[in-house]
Amino acid sequence: MTSIKERKIYDNISKEEVKARLREIFGASNVSEKQVDLYSYSYDMTECAQHMPDFVVIPENKEQLVELVKFCNNHVIPIVPYISGNNVGGLTIPEQGGIIVDFGKKMNKIIHVDDNMMYALLEPGVTFGQLEKYLEEHFPNLCYSYPFAPPYAGVVGNVILSGMNNMSCKLGSMGDSINGIEVITADGEIARIGSCFYGKNEADVKSWWSRYPMPDLMGLFINWQGMTGLVTKCAVQLWPKPKFKKIFLAVTFGLTDVASILREAGRTDVADDISAVSVEVVKMSVEVPEPIKYPGEPDFAALMVISAKTKNQFEAKKEILVETIDYLNKKGKNILLADVDEFSRLFSLRVRCYLDLPAALLSLVEYSGLTWFGSYAPSHKLEELIEKVDKIFHKHEIPSFIYMKSMKSSHYSIFRPIMRYMKFKEGEEERYHACLEEITDTCIDLGCIPYKTPAWMTTKLREKINPGWLNLFEKIKNCLDPNNIFNPGRWNT
Ligand SMILES: Cc1cc2nc3c(=O)[nH]c(=O)nc-3n(C[C@H](O)[C@H](O)[C@H](O)COP(=O)(O)OP(=O)(O)OC[C@H]3O[C@@H](n4cnc5c(N)ncnc54)[C@H](O)[C@@H]3O)c2cc1C
Repeated sequence: MTSIKERKIYDNISKEEVKARLREIFGASNVSEKQVDLYSYSYDMTECAQHMPDFVVIPENKEQLVELVKFCNNHVIPIVPYISGNNVGGLTIPEQGGIIVDFGKKMNKIIHVDDNMMYALLEPGVTFGQLEKYLEEHFPNLCYSYPFAPPYAGVVGNVILSGMNNMSCKLGSMGDSINGIEVITADGEIARIGSCFYGKNEADVKSWWSRYPMPDLMGLFINWQGMTGLVTKCAVQLWPKPKFKKIFLAVTFGLTDVASILREAGRTDVADDISAVSVEVVKMSVEVPEPIKYPGEPDFAALMVISAKTKNQFEAKKEILVETIDYLNKKGKNILLADVDEFSRLFSLRVRCYLDLPAALLSLVEYSGLTWFGSYAPSHKLEELIEKVDKIFHKHEIPSFIYMKSMKSSHYSIFRPIMRYMKFKEGEEERYHACLEEITDTCIDLGCIPYKTPAWMTTKLREKINPGWLNLFEKIKNCLDPNNIFNPGRWNT
């Protein structure tokens, strides 16, 4: 394991000298060491341990960042890249202090949208809300795929962490939808990866159309949680906006029946998205504070998004979906197909927030604490996962919030037990963490692979992963970041 250094940043250079250099690079108004400015970067909504940074800087361009990286590499000062801190994994908490680089404030330009080749070239700070508004105004024929994350969370932060969004049943991980990135490595060099790799200095904005077929260096920066370099540009794929779109709601009776919908409906290849939530989550979404399931109530609800270019194509897709649900019911499942528009009108219009993305799901963010075990999961284990995790939730007297998704036509799934809690209430973090840890152990034993992993989770993973993988991981990290300056502490580096 990479040695966890107790850093003594200011043994070789004084804090005043660091401050002076940062002001030189970014200008005094874009550098702060005030506790009041730093505090909000020291924690996130999870129960991950708090840690203060020493400085926050607000970059405007990559030239400043090259200077910063060279300086920090010389003096072994940690750099923590930050967009809006909405990763729900403690990933931007500066475990070893150092400098927060806040991309969200000024490096947030939509540089180019290519209508022909359907991609958007973005600076790291662009948010989902911003991209959606821009496309609606300037390219109403194109669309993007959105997560349940708030509109103020970052698009690039999401794709470089392999996000799962509302077209993931069709597309799979959002990491697969990256065409190209520009990245600054520890020596201060700028590399462009993807079809944008031709040319010495700047690449033509129209050259960011493919990730392949050269050796795929993108993997050195995806899912590394900012540990291998600073991404300064990223091209993400867009898709033609469908003329017809409808969301169907399948309600299931029987704790694990929903798993078969994710698998069977997913593999029909007709849905853009299939997300399923336990009935407790449905109640949470309409503001029931401590929701529980009563006898006789359905166990899960699955939202299935279907889109099409023509009415006929839509009807054909719908027919396939209805036939799949009929088939499952004939095999003994108990599934009720409903019109989600009717349902939301009858039940609560709040439900629409889950349908019309991007949206702020107030029920998820209104508590001071939010944490989860988010994982890529083997689809054939979903029943076992639901049963075991539901029991753990009940044992800890915590509402059984389970969220799942079918990925890439059900080649795999997302399994995510969720908890929201009062972060500042005595004993609550410990209580929820105990439950989360038990869920983590159970899910990892069943083969789930957690994403956006906090360090306490990667400690567990390290005990399970084959030594060859771990050694290769360490070698690559040491090679790309020999002084361990990029977001140190992640994956226990
Ligand atoms: C309520 C809620 C619901 C959510 N639902 C979903 C969901 O359904 N699906 C889903 O996929 N996600 C979901 N998320 C997570 C969220 O979408 C993404 O993780 C998010 O978009 C990234 O957050 P951010 O932009 O704030 O990045 P940050 O949290 O600021 O950063 C994310 C990571 O990227 C690194 N990083 C940031 N900038 C750079 C850079 N320029 N170069 C290199 N590394 C960098 C950071 O160090 C950190 O490790 C949800 C989050 C919330 C709060």
